Amino acid sequence: MDCVFCKIISGEIKSSIVYRDEDVVAFKDLNPQAPTHILIVPVKHIDSLSNCLKEDEGVLGKIQLVASKIANDLCISDAFRLVTNNGTKAGQTVKHLHYHLLAGRRFKWPPG
Ligand code: AMP
Ligand code: ZN
Repeated sequence: MDCVFCKIISGEIKSSIVYRDEDVVAFKDLNPQAPTHILIVPVKHIDSLSNCLKEDEGVLGKIQLVASKIANDLCISDAFRLVTNNGTKAGQTVKHLHYHLLAGRRFKWPPG
């Protein structure tokens, strides 16, 4: 499969990995939108949140706990944003489910 995040998970494409277990990998975004910008992805290739199944419930929960752990480890747990872009019109460019963990600057609400 020609998927950049699958290639990062397998090590075919180099990346700065900050967390890995059997279900979840987290790595630094190549084009950071905040001083801290980490992508958290399931090891299993899933196109987007809309394509998740009941069997993905566990990994979806785990991603949130991994985000919280990374935030604690990086001392940003007081102020971070966790977001997924679902679908092209919502800004999704890589069709492997991922959550952006952003911190280190002020964020606007609603997001643009
Ligand atoms: P999205 O627009 O929500 O699909 O987010 C995709 C993100 O993947 C963007 O923030 C890109 O900067 C990031 N990205 C694309 N290729 C790489 C890569 N090889 N390593 C790290 N981040 C990447
Ligand atoms: Zn993939």
